[in-house]
Amino acid sequence: MDIDAKTEALHRSAKSGFRWDGVAHSPYKDEGSAPFKAISRQTLFADGALGCELRYFEVDAGGHSTLERHEHVHAVMILRGHGKCLLGDEVRDIGPHDLVSIPGWVWHQFRATAGETLGFLCMVNHDRDRPQLPTDEQVYALMANPAVAAFLNG
Ligand code: MN
Repeated sequence: MDIDAKTEALHRSAKSGFRWDGVAHSPYKDEGSAPFKAISRQTLFADGALGCELRYFEVDAGGHSTLERHEHVHAVMILRGHGKCLLGDEVRDIGPHDLVSIPGWVWHQFRATAGETLGFLCMVNHDRDRPQLPTDEQVYALMANPAVAAFLNG
């Protein structure tokens, strides 16, 4: 059996400020691998036996995740703060406990636009394809929608 697919009994206590014992507070992605700003990642669960991972991302005020799309899907729950997310060609206001489903191949991005930290849980396939970044043409096409243009211009 793949050691990755073995579930261990484990309790990790919450610390203050959306941190957990035994959970590394990491950069969102490797610097320079894709455009993003002021966002961190904590992988809470990454057990192969689950078939999915649960991560907690935190975006500082004014920061954002990468504008991307991919075959794998996301299930997101906002835990703290307010902001906006791009979902395909729509911009939505998001706040605590909102649920966001992101199907495969839908452009998406999270932005902390409300002058406060935005934190969200994101469930994702354990085995997943590499995100695709938009070409300039695809960005221009998205910006044909004024709401999306305003969102992307921050
Ligand atoms: Mn994504």
